[in-house]
Amino acid sequence: MTISTVKSNLLGMTKQKMEHFFDLIGEKRFRAAQVMKWIHYFGIDDFDAMTNVSKTLRNKLKIIAEVRGPEVVSEDISSDGTRKWLVRVASGSCVETVYIPQGKRGTLCISSQAGCALDCSFCFTGKQGFNSNLTVDEIIGQIWLANKSFSGVQTGVNRVVTNVVMMGMGEPLLNFDNVVAAMHLMIDDFGYCIPKRRLTLSTSGVVPMLNKLSEHINISLTLSLHAPNDKLRNQLVPINKKYPLKILLESCQRYMATLGNKRMLTIAYTMLKDINDKIEHAVEMIELLKNIPCKINLIPFNPFPYSSYERPSNNAIRRFQNRLRQAGYNVTIRTTRGEDIDAACGQLVGQIIDRTSRSENYITMHKVNVTKDMQQITLNQI
Ligand code: SAH
Ligand code: SF4
Repeated sequence: MTISTVKSNLLGMTKQKMEHFFDLIGEKRFRAAQVMKWIHYFGIDDFDAMTNVSKTLRNKLKIIAEVRGPEVVSEDISSDGTRKWLVRVASGSCVETVYIPQGKRGTLCISSQAGCALDCSFCFTGKQGFNSNLTVDEIIGQIWLANKSFSGVQTGVNRVVTNVVMMGMGEPLLNFDNVVAAMHLMIDDFGYCIPKRRLTLSTSGVVPMLNKLSEHINISLTLSLHAPNDKLRNQLVPINKKYPLKILLESCQRYMATLGNKRMLTIAYTMLKDINDKIEHAVEMIELLKNIPCKINLIPFNPFPYSSYERPSNNAIRRFQNRLRQAGYNVTIRTTRGEDIDAACGQLVGQIIDRTSRSENYITMHKVNVTKDMQQITLNQI
């Protein structure tokens, strides 16, 4: 018999996996629920603190298992209460997680990949290339550490994270299995008890994965649209060449149909000056979406070093919003939070060790000093 010296990290185990783990070590399955509650509900990583677990089992667990959260490289707290963590993942890259408080609601924006292979033309994560898929414990570890950072008082029933959006770095549908497993832990009663409607996956449109999502989980969906026709979307979101608007929107509709009548698709639309912000784009979008119950969230472009795009004026954004509203849509404009800590969409820098050399090309071409240049960016608030 070979004895493994690598401890199993219990942090990323779904209930099913944890039960299997306890089976394997000859313990009762109900231990899974007990231990999960300590880890996720109370944010505990020390087996000795798990007081309803027998001392013998605690000692056994100390030898073969661990609860290992991600390594936090830095934590920034904005004057508006927004928090941002830079977290190191096993591949050596770093990803970012952002917490945004809004009254009673606390939204955590989670990363799913280190970098992104899809290279949308207005996204700084895309410019950094792709490095790795995050493991389940690296994904769930972001919510675990966010809850813990509010000094333990806020764990249990008073947890600060009430909503989760998969809108950090990476394309969640391209890390399908790990993202789905982590989302199951988020909604689990012994995990984070996040209601399914308060858990949102945002995608740029990986149709084959979207087609199978409802077989695995029923959470809210945001489609990153950004253009009302294929010609423009091909330029902004290159994956559109593979999965064009018609089949993408059909896939979204099929997914939404599985959620029932009351749930609406959210359309995210990053607004780029003189590119997709004209009234004719709004009119085209109204036509495109006419049979799809949805709400629309306009995201003013957040600039990054040497990007050729600009943010439209507030007037242009409001005009666009009003035109969509006239057609009956619920249209919001995303406000920038955490300006002083660069926590906005498209501002997440991370530290990606690029496998595609895209970031190297970008950084050499533009002589970008990533950290310094990012700090100099000032964002306007609407
Ligand atoms: N890959 C997924 C989720 C991560 S991106 C997706 O694309 O949906 C989260 C959101 O931020 C997306 O809607 C994306 O289009 C938007 N975004 C990316 N870069 C941006 C920028 N520079 N300014 C404003 N929004 C940006
Ligand atoms: Fe990837 Fe989303 Fe950025 Fe596109 S917008 S490059 S899919 S993270």
